[in-house]
Amino acid sequence: MTPALSSKIQPASRILIVDDREENLFVLEELLSGMNVDVVKALSGTEALHILIKDSDFCLILMDVQMPVLDGFKTTQLIHKHPKTRHTPVIFITAIHKDLNYIHRGFDSGAADYICKPIDAKILLAKIQVFVDLEQNKRALERLFQKTKALEESKNLLLNYSQDGIIAVDDNGLINFCNPAAQEILKVDSNQLINKSILMLLDHPALRDKLDWENSIFRRAILQGDTIRENDAKIANEKGQCTPCSYSFGTFRSGDKGGGVLMFHDISQRKQNEEKLLYMATHDPLTKLPNRILFKEALNNAINRCKRNGHRLIVMFVDLDHFKKVNDEFGHSVGDELLVNLAQRLLSYSRKVSLFARLGGDEFGVLFEDEDGNFDSTVMAGKMLEVLSKPIELKNHSILTSGSIGIVEHPEYGEDAEFLIKAADLSMYQAKNMGRNCFAMFDPTFEDLAVQHSHLERDFKNAVLENKLCCHFQPIIDSHNEKLVAVEVLARWIHDTRGFVSPDNFIPIAETSGLIIPLSTQIYTQAFKALQAWIDQGIWPQGARIALNTSSVQFRNKLVIDQLMEIKDKFRLEMDHFEIEITESLLLNDQEEVIETLRMMQTMGLSISIDDFGTGYSSLSYLRRLPINTLKIDRSFIKDIGKDKDDECIITATIDLAHNLNLKVISEGVETEEQAEFLRHANSDYFQGYLYSRPLPEKEMEDWLKAYAENSKRPD
Ligand code: C2E
Ligand code: CA
Ligand code: CA
Repeated sequence: MTPALSSKIQPASRILIVDDREENLFVLEELLSGMNVDVVKALSGTEALHILIKDSDFCLILMDVQMPVLDGFKTTQLIHKHPKTRHTPVIFITAIHKDLNYIHRGFDSGAADYICKPIDAKILLAKIQVFVDLEQNKRALERLFQKTKALEESKNLLLNYSQDGIIAVDDNGLINFCNPAAQEILKVDSNQLINKSILMLLDHPALRDKLDWENSIFRRAILQGDTIRENDAKIANEKGQCTPCSYSFGTFRSGDKGGGVLMFHDISQRKQNEEKLLYMATHDPLTKLPNRILFKEALNNAINRCKRNGHRLIVMFVDLDHFKKVNDEFGHSVGDELLVNLAQRLLSYSRKVSLFARLGGDEFGVLFEDEDGNFDSTVMAGKMLEVLSKPIELKNHSILTSGSIGIVEHPEYGEDAEFLIKAADLSMYQAKNMGRNCFAMFDPTFEDLAVQHSHLERDFKNAVLENKLCCHFQPIIDSHNEKLVAVEVLARWIHDTRGFVSPDNFIPIAETSGLIIPLSTQIYTQAFKALQAWIDQGIWPQGARIALNTSSVQFRNKLVIDQLMEIKDKFRLEMDHFEIEITESLLLNDQEEVIETLRMMQTMGLSISIDDFGTGYSSLSYLRRLPINTLKIDRSFIKDIGKDKDDECIITATIDLAHNLNLKVISEGVETEEQAEFLRHANSDYFQGYLYSRPLPEKEMEDWLKAYAENSKRPD
């Protein structure tokens, strides 16, 4: 007999002994005490039945044959009628019924054995042991069965409720199982999968011929007991609908049979997120156009393509002119709207474009691949400029824009993306230098110009740090009696080798580099010192002011007030000696801070004038609300007097309206008597221009003031 199936400690088996004589029961109990069994005793067949009805869990019943009322045979028959005890083995023990008839009756009534007294203890115990072992094995089997059943159930649970698709295949790669998730991911029924080849599903890069099982990596994996893992694959159903997935294909072998289990996970969501992230990293959120990163990548790809097919590639950089002004004057939301609007216009227009991208700010990049060899980039650039210069209506404003375009062609001027981008950028700057609203084709000399510009920047920084800038002075006079009303201070930089450099070239450098603060402090200090000397000499006319140019940077945190106060305190000057010139864009920035600063300045005694009036977008009615004293009509209007009736009308109207608002008007850049005559007639209050004096160095200004003082002393 095999030992108990499980070696685990198990509850002792129970034996029921039935005998009407207590001493017999006692002897049997004694006999069994050496075995690991629990003994229950019954003094009659009836008691035995009672016990069994309550608890039927006995591995064996030892039954006396001869008992009053119910003898052993009848009791056994009754026991074996009951379903719960039908299979409980019974051994009969008897001293008297030893002949074969009785023994046969005993077996007929369901005995497992029949033992006659006197009992041989060894034989009885050996026989009992068989039943005890049987019972223990039966219990172990039952437990195993329960465990297997539980395992089976949890396996089914796993398979049915797993979010992952699970497909099993045999060693021919044919599907013999698929779980519900697999059907759901593939959008098919199980009968559309069963007996199909796994190769129908997986689009593995290593699979050339999809149904070549003999050479497939899956077959090899099954043969070699390998696992295949793939994080970025696609799984397809029979209609060819693909789902991105990650999968692992585990294999097993048992004897000469084998197979594999494919577990796959739907990664569509992850893929979508990745795509979203990639889109965000490569596109501009405002215009939805590709950004600089994607532009560069596309350019690299285009270069490689063009190298192969010999096509020409054209790179253009389009930069809006004076976009900063639009932002400053109308606010960023209008600026943004303008960009979106222009981007759409350019995009819908340029159909031949391979890629149209926003490179940053107001800069766009355009790629053209010239497939048929007759693309004319100058014609295209001309048309784009035309598109850009059509007025745009935004928030009740008609905004006029223009652009500057730089063009470079591959392979003529360069092989690599970095260089082409730089070359297009340089050309675009060249177009700006040429007066904007135009395009420039790349020329290698642009590189020298760029180098020169960066040298200029470097030299300018040194000049500011070494205090090498000085100021010139230009008189502003009363149009009616030619009295001096103010002197404008203009920054001058004489470069060591280049000589005179126009402020129009170095002021932008100063503004972008932050040097405008030290520069203006230097200029103001020189001007204040000169003014103080002129006052001391008694040549400075009573009530005349020194006009100082400012930059919007100086208005941050009211910096300009600190600057003025600090310098003024060094000299014995009052604020009513000064006039501040601001630009229109600063005002229309509608920053409360700027307006407050201007109010403070006015209360301190400073006079405030708007420079270059007419070149920005401000309307006169807007000025009504602002703390200003004077308008300076821009030179561009004055120079057309006698040539352009429209400009003449604008001048007259501006002066009239300004007077209505109690503002004085200075006409800038008066060069001829004819202009002066017209302006006098139009009631311009003051004149500034070469007709009266060019900007003068300090010494010459001093001489001018002296002569002026002499003249003033003379009676009219
Ligand atoms: P702006 O403030 O409009 O200065 C007047 C400009 O017109 C000066 O140019 C002056 O030389 C020029 N001008 C005056 N009368 C005539 C004339 O009859 N005909 C012609 N053709 N031009 C005339 P400049 O000195 O080249 O300055 C250019 C600009 O640079 C200035 O324009 C001003 O915006 C800026 N700037 C100059 N100095 C400073 C400064 O210290 N600080 C700041 N922030 N800007 C300055
Ligand atoms: Ca000025
Ligand atoms: Ca001006």
